[in-house]
Amino acid sequence: MIALGSRIRESLVGLRMPRALELLDSVVQRLEQGEITALEAIDQLLLEEYSLREGRRVTMALTTANLTPVKTLESFDFTFQPSLDRDRIMTLAQLEFVERCEMVHLLGPPGTGKSHLASALGVTAVKAGKSVYRANLAQLINALVKAEREGRLAEKIRFYARSALLIVDEIGYLPISAGGANLFFQLVNARYEKGAMILTSNRGFAEWGEIFGDPVVATALLDRLLHHAVVIHIEGASYRLRGHADLIPEHIRANAPISPPPPPKKRGRGRPAKDRTQEI
Ligand code: ADP
Ligand code: MG
Repeated sequence: MIALGSRIRESLVGLRMPRALELLDSVVQRLEQGEITALEAIDQLLLEEYSLREGRRVTMALTTANLTPVKTLESFDFTFQPSLDRDRIMTLAQLEFVERCEMVHLLGPPGTGKSHLASALGVTAVKAGKSVYRANLAQLINALVKAEREGRLAEKIRFYARSALLIVDEIGYLPISAGGANLFFQLVNARYEKGAMILTSNRGFAEWGEIFGDPVVATALLDRLLHHAVVIHIEGASYRLRGHADLIPEHIRANAPISPPPPPKKRGRGRPAKDRTQEI
């Protein structure tokens, strides 16, 4: 029995199962005292080890997916956003849209929870074992521009095209150069019908020509991004500004219109940087 015990211990060390090794003595003791059956003993050792590994895998995957700080659907207060259909979000959380390589658009004014929901769906996908990557549009385009400059564009596009779900946050806050729009188009094209995406924007689709500085590229982008797409509008107050509504001028307080779009101030330049402060 002792020889057997030390052999099991050796095997657990060799298999790198530290949690099972740690629990071995107490589980064997409970088994010998008749408190648990042999099957229960095996189950306990494997389950503990598996939970430890799974927890580590999820933590690591959330970090590499850029999903920290972690947002969850459980921590989202749906009662704060009555225009949002909870069931639609919960259906998305079943992740069939990822299997079907669909596009999900979350549209709404700043602070309505678009980034939170996009990340929370990403977290759900990571837990389900799917590969996920999240970035703001500006970060994504900067990385593509840099990669192109360094002659690594194809490699970078392959990297972004690889994950089962790509989350592109904050479309519309900062204007995109024509070159940047073109690179983003190449990425979207590389993923088209091969991987799912969640995109968030504070601007309506009619304004994409302005955001991307070129109506032709914007049309080509929308052509791919609206095919097999789910569009969710959130029309509510900013969660960030809750409790401070009286301090905010009426016209920017809530329900900033998604459509119809406001007339562009200057052609091809997107919104002025001051709008960015609404987001922060
Ligand atoms: P948006 O991307 O639409 O501008 P965010 O998702 O970044 O808004 O939300 C702003 C902040 O408020 C985040 O910290 C987010 O977690 C929180 N938040 C927004 N809506 C809710 C909600 N309904 N319940 C809980 N937290 C929320
Ligand atoms: Mg956001």
